[in-house]
Amino acid sequence: KSHYQILVIGGGTAGIMTAAQMLRKNAKLDIAIIEPSETHYYQPAWTLVGAGDYEFDKTVRATADIMPKGVDWIKDRATGFDPENNLVSTLESGNITYDYLVVATGLVMEPGMIKGLPEALEQGVACSNYINPEHTWETLRNFKGGNALFTQPTTPIKCGGAPQKIAYLAADYFRKNGLKDKANVIFATPGTVIFGVKEIRETLMHVIDRYGIHFKPFYAPKEIDIENRIVHFSHTAPDENTCVINEDNDLGEKMYGDVDIHVPFDMLHLAPPQAAPKFVRESVLSNDAGWLDVDHHSMQHKKYPNIFGLGDVAGLPTAKTGAAVRKQVPVVVDNLVKLMADKTADNHSYNGYSSCPLVTGYGKMTLAEFDYKNNFIPDPKLKRMLVFNSAKEHWRLYMFKKYGLPYLYWNKMMKGKKV
Ligand code: FAD
Repeated sequence: KSHYQILVIGGGTAGIMTAAQMLRKNAKLDIAIIEPSETHYYQPAWTLVGAGDYEFDKTVRATADIMPKGVDWIKDRATGFDPENNLVSTLESGNITYDYLVVATGLVMEPGMIKGLPEALEQGVACSNYINPEHTWETLRNFKGGNALFTQPTTPIKCGGAPQKIAYLAADYFRKNGLKDKANVIFATPGTVIFGVKEIRETLMHVIDRYGIHFKPFYAPKEIDIENRIVHFSHTAPDENTCVINEDNDLGEKMYGDVDIHVPFDMLHLAPPQAAPKFVRESVLSNDAGWLDVDHHSMQHKKYPNIFGLGDVAGLPTAKTGAAVRKQVPVVVDNLVKLMADKTADNHSYNGYSSCPLVTGYGKMTLAEFDYKNNFIPDPKLKRMLVFNSAKEHWRLYMFKKYGLPYLYWNKMMKGKKV
């Protein structure tokens, strides 16, 4: 079969949820999902896997088991778009045409954008929860002291909070294991502040103080010197450098000129640079930054009304998370239903909602929920359930992350049920 009413590219969080919710609206819809992978991952739990508090195996399910019933699974990789002819090309299954297209390919890791990073990851010199959280856990357990350096790239990344969550967990782990005085935990970020939402930022600054973490804003990683175990950073705003770096300071940090900073490390965790998949980046569907060029409130493509894009691949100025996908899917589904009924896709109600469960230690978490304007907007349903102020740390939030959210993901979100 080479034509479908609705063709979805990507069977990750967004693709499966969209198809499942569409079928709940109308079980007779003719839907296919193009997805090459045999396995589907619950990635949010990788933060806990990296800290030894969750089993990796529990984050993995067979794609076959989560494919909504009634969907054709095209086990292949999409390779190109021809939106004028409503056509998607694939690696092995030829061209597939559609009435409506949903692009939900997620994003890809691009470690090559930092010099030395591909090799550092390959040789185990650097670890990353984004690639192999079990290796992070092994690295933490083998750490004997010195600089534990945590950083993130200048590109957009999925779950922007993940690079700092593992820093807090590591600091807590070192504290619990008698390494507190031997470890310098450093969190270096190209960002200007620890978190964009004011209420959460205040909590996180307390957390940073509690652990004695060296917080370094304006640090953009650009090269990893594997041999000498040094990360080279560019200072992104030399004029705003409030903390002057002394030669041979406690961390062994060195500054060359105005912008070149070298930080030695004994362990290194980082989020690799990330981008939309190449075939999306290079297509007519992408915006200047390479992400799918969709309306920020309806997720409808700006040029092609029968194409929608959501999830990590979408060019939406909010945090790329599964929580954001949860709020985007009903809007996309509603718009698809309208288009199929020959109406216009006029649901523009997505307000940029995203959330980030900021784990701040074992048994501790604060929940950042926000919109395009970085307003703190706690979900009223959740607020009623949890009772307390979610901008503060609470063990109940951690339990929600460890047990509640995975349950909701597999049993509600993946099945197209309302959550
Ligand atoms: P994905 O779920 O990644 O799915 C994309 C799918 O598209 C994949 O299955 C892929 O195989 C497929 N695909 C790719 N290329 C092609 C192609 N050419 N053809 C066909 N199919 C293709 N989110 C939260 O909400 N809370 C968290 O706490 C959280 N923590 C995170 C921690 C880590 C370490 C990581 C890595 C992620 C975290 N996330 C979190 C982010 C969350 O997992 C993603 O935002 C979410 O999965 C995005 O869904 P998606 O469908 O856009 O992409």
